[in-house]
Amino acid sequence: MKIFYSDFHRKHYPPFEVFDGGKRVPYLENPDRMDRILSALNKTDWAEFVEPNNFGLDPIHAVHDKDYITFLASSWTEWLDSDPEVAASPEQNALLPATFALRRTPRVPSTLLGKAGYYMMDLSACIVEHTYSAALTSANCALSAAESVISEQSSAFALCRPPGHHAGKDYAGGYCFINNASVAANWLSSKGKVALLDIDYHAGNGTQDIFYERNDVSTISIHGDPDFEYPHYIGFADETGTGAGLGFHRNFPLPAGTDDAKYLTALDEALGMIRNFAPNYLVLSTGMDTFENDPLGKFKVTHNGFTEIGKLIAALNLPSVIVMEGGYANEALGANVVALLEQFK
Ligand SMILES: [Zn+2]
Repeated sequence: MKIFYSDFHRKHYPPFEVFDGGKRVPYLENPDRMDRILSALNKTDWAEFVEPNNFGLDPIHAVHDKDYITFLASSWTEWLDSDPEVAASPEQNALLPATFALRRTPRVPSTLLGKAGYYMMDLSACIVEHTYSAALTSANCALSAAESVISEQSSAFALCRPPGHHAGKDYAGGYCFINNASVAANWLSSKGKVALLDIDYHAGNGTQDIFYERNDVSTISIHGDPDFEYPHYIGFADETGTGAGLGFHRNFPLPAGTDDAKYLTALDEALGMIRNFAPNYLVLSTGMDTFENDPLGKFKVTHNGFTEIGKLIAALNLPSVIVMEGGYANEALGANVVALLEQFK
């Protein structure tokens, strides 16, 4: 199986993030996650690593607001220019606003920090010097995997970092800046119908936002109920799309403690919907934070559960772009990713 990956992600490593209660903690979405996955893949006899191609900005702008992407591109330099303290020790800093645009109006603020609060939804999407380039490279991994899936009509893995599914049309959040899976799904949608299934523990709010009014890409997310879990405000069962997209989005919010059996039941129903939609391609937003020992999750999916999840999804028999999202139980991350991917090779 082709694995699209670039080492460039290492340059995006914010010195901290801010947890609930204002706690400043080490950045949980860290390069060690990739090292664990690389190490496990290197032990297999089927992983073939490929550097991504550069697709330019057109496929990014096809999904994201242009001014938002410009903000991502320019904000670090502006941040340094605006504050001598930050400029004196950039490695100890990350761009984070202290004010957020609640129920925002179309008026984009003119100042850097005003823009930051407008374009960010939380305190985990920290911007540092190479964040924008790393996010572009990550999206190029997903696009390259999509291109490979078209040409070879078999599945490919985009080992993306930073992840993407919390990034909406014009906002960053949840460690995500550019929505890699959505960029790939939109690119694929010109070649045929696409189903985008999100199995990360957290609701794929950004993906929902991007495709909510469309019927050529059907989006389904299985996740911890936002009633108790991040992202809190989106990902509920009654959100099913709007306009032409009505009926083409589905959320499966599940309770804390969801184990393999309960998860597989929801997955089975989701896969039935995908079969009815009859897509030509599948994009799989693959988070491993449903794992029982994940520090950010409250599900109880086991290592063997990932094998079963992989088997059920692979049985769709669709050329699949498998895109890495979250997963923070680093010690188990590599083995869990391999358990799932093995079902697609
Ligand atoms: Zn997640």
